[in-house]
Amino acid sequence: MDQHAELGIIGGSGFYSLLKDAQDVNVETPYGAPSDPISIGEIAGRTVAFLARHGRRHQIPPHMINYRANIWALKSLGVRRIIGPAAVGSLQPNIKVGDLVVTDQFVDRTTRSNTTFYDGPVVTHVSAADPYCPTLNRLAVATIRDLGLSVHDGGTCVVIEGPRFSTKAESIWFTRMGWHTVNMTQYPEVLLAREQAICYCNISVVTDYDAGLVAEGSVKPVSNEAVLEAFQANLKNLVAIIETMVPRIPGPEVDCTCFHALDGASIG
Ligand SMILES: [Zn+2]
Repeated sequence: MDQHAELGIIGGSGFYSLLKDAQDVNVETPYGAPSDPISIGEIAGRTVAFLARHGRRHQIPPHMINYRANIWALKSLGVRRIIGPAAVGSLQPNIKVGDLVVTDQFVDRTTRSNTTFYDGPVVTHVSAADPYCPTLNRLAVATIRDLGLSVHDGGTCVVIEGPRFSTKAESIWFTRMGWHTVNMTQYPEVLLAREQAICYCNISVVTDYDAGLVAEGSVKPVSNEAVLEAFQANLKNLVAIIETMVPRIPGPEVDCTCFHALDGASIG
């Protein structure tokens, strides 16, 4: 079995259908097991490793995900670029349920430990100024536009600890700060990829309006049914986006700033 893949996808279990001739690989890491066995298969002739972020039965809550094992496992398979689709809540009235957001910043509101590969003795500070891959982000936005779908080019995602949702007060604060979306998994996932010099791109699907927007009367609350409907429609869209985007992604021989994340990052 080919235990090598150049591209990685971390997402919901709806993506298994994308992979041709997929085989499951159990990967062990120094940090323990990843969320699930990794499926390696082909999309448009490219080898892709798919990992279900929450496990394939969606059994791992956001705060219990072994993010380090997930990124390490993909790295050990040779993955250089990751697409990490996710569901988010909207913090702004112009970001509608069903819209897509290509995230370019995060605000960390988690209280997690185990958020770095660099616990010493070599002290390493990786830049997080622009944590998402600029090349993949541009490609994602262009692909989504080509498919005629509504996309926000850039957005700041507030990552909360979970598993609870925000209070109204927290959510109103996030909105007033001008931040765009809220989610429970983007941090530390994106930053651990950067620490491994892997390109990472998030495509977010807006499934609901966060509590503050509804409380302030900026939007009407959406029903659970509407959320599920938006999610299903968007799962289809996400699959189409990834199918279209993968053949456009530069090969591993094409350099990216992300590959140089560790240049000069260590002290001593
Ligand atoms: Zn990159």
